[in-house]
Amino acid sequence: MSAARAHGSDGARPRVAVLGGGVAGLAAALRLAASGARVTLIEREARLGGKAGEWREAGFRFDTGPSVLTLPHVVRETFAEVGLECPVAFRPAAPLCRYVYPDGRVWDVYRELEPTLAGLAADEAEAYLRALRKARELYEAAAPVFVHGPPPGLPQLAAYGLRHGLAAAPGRSLPALLRALGADSPLLRPFFLRFATYVGADPRRAPAVLHNVAWAELGLGVHHPVGGMYALVRGLEAALARFGVEVRLETTVERLAQRGGAVREVVTDAGVLPCDAVVAAVDRDRVLGWLGRRPRPRPPSLSGLVLLAGLGQRDQRLAHHTIVFPERYGEEFDAIAAGRHPHDPTLYLNVTVHSDPADAPEGGENRFVMANAPALPRQGDDAVAREAREREGREAVMATLARRGFDWPASALVTSRWLGPAAFARFGDRGRLYGAAPHGLLGALRPGQRLRGVRGLALAGGTVHPGGGVPLALLSGREAAELLAAEVGLG
Ligand SMILES: Cc1cc2nc3c(=O)[nH]c(=O)nc-3n(C[C@H](O)[C@H](O)[C@H](O)COP(=O)(O)OP(=O)(O)OC[C@H]3O[C@@H](n4cnc5c(N)ncnc54)[C@H](O)[C@@H]3O)c2cc1C
Repeated sequence: MSAARAHGSDGARPRVAVLGGGVAGLAAALRLAASGARVTLIEREARLGGKAGEWREAGFRFDTGPSVLTLPHVVRETFAEVGLECPVAFRPAAPLCRYVYPDGRVWDVYRELEPTLAGLAADEAEAYLRALRKARELYEAAAPVFVHGPPPGLPQLAAYGLRHGLAAAPGRSLPALLRALGADSPLLRPFFLRFATYVGADPRRAPAVLHNVAWAELGLGVHHPVGGMYALVRGLEAALARFGVEVRLETTVERLAQRGGAVREVVTDAGVLPCDAVVAAVDRDRVLGWLGRRPRPRPPSLSGLVLLAGLGQRDQRLAHHTIVFPERYGEEFDAIAAGRHPHDPTLYLNVTVHSDPADAPEGGENRFVMANAPALPRQGDDAVAREAREREGREAVMATLARRGFDWPASALVTSRWLGPAAFARFGDRGRLYGAAPHGLLGALRPGQRLRGVRGLALAGGTVHPGGGVPLALLSGREAAELLAAEVGLG
């Protein structure tokens, strides 16, 4: 599909509805509008960005969702392919992340090997290099098939299986792969397992092939968008305005009406929108519901519990990204599988003021703390039970911060806010962050972007191909636009 095509009168231009204003929907809308479609984007909330949100209070700025950005070239391409300069600047994270272990050991991991290995004993350094090489091998084999381009069909899957099947260790779990690589020491095991949580897995149940995620961060690097992750949402919003996309906020999609097997109308709480095609960039199960279909019950991916704390003091021990590992990594996923918040969760801390001084008042700190959490139960949940469960989770996070020496005196707290599965359920069904759990080899394969028997509809976003996380959701939106292009006469 060629970008920025000239079209005749408005009447000749196909009308496409993009449902959901998360990064996937924004990328799809941009690409379709630049190709000449008349695009209307419908978003339920009063702001764009979906899970990528922002909170400003008392001089503090927080990203409320994603904060680790990998593959920044995907962001640049999203703008470049419609003829725009990327409005967001990136700074590489150095270290990529700081790891704090229960015995007090602190390990700074860089993209560069020398400073990374300096923190390791000789045998650990060898194991690190072996595991890194394996992650690279898996990533370079998988990315062209499973990340870039359209969802793979049977021929692509067969070709991948023939060429890389054995190396991808089918049937092996991620922990088994790490054992085979000798990368399962108390330091390396939690370190390498945790990357599978980036796609919402219990790492112990993740297939070996998900070890490739480690390469995206360790080999290709982590970047901070200057102005925060929300600067990307603002940049996309401005680009949509340039291409004349109509954005309807605070409008909820209720169902999709089909004629002759094709989606022809979007029914919202504010009226009906006729269209030639639809990109549905919301949780896949929600889209199935709009079509009167019943989703296949699958275990949900992880949810999260987030504390945003504006502090009047700074903790110099924290890097931009810091992970605090628990005593026994892995046990938290037993609690999560049982629907409970863990007592001793891994904590991810993100403090952007070290890199972006405008993000907190002088001497203050904008601390984002995140723990893995269970998605909401399928049924039988009520607001009281939900609140009681999340309260337990909040208490566990505070107790863990205190136990590990990362708490603060009451007098230092200027402002705070919690977000948990109930809040995230506005975006993803049951508050799951990445659709169905990517457990087992087939579970890791994300659903495609089409629904059988439905024309004029492409799915996009973190619950379908190629998967969750900001760069993959952007790719998904771009791909959905591409899939519809020929159908609506833009190809
Ligand atoms: C706390 C947290 C931390 C994360 N950390 C990272 C990270 O560090 N790095 C990373 O890459 N990713 C991270 N992620 C994941 C990342 O945010 C998502 O994968 C990505 O933003 C998904 O984008 P999306 O467009 O697919 O979906 P969403 O952002 O969920 O967008 C869907 C949109 O659809 C709208 N919508 C839903 N239903 C309706 C309806 N009926 N009518 C109209 N609109 C509707 C929603 O309001 C929403 O705006 C994190 C997510 C969270 C929540």
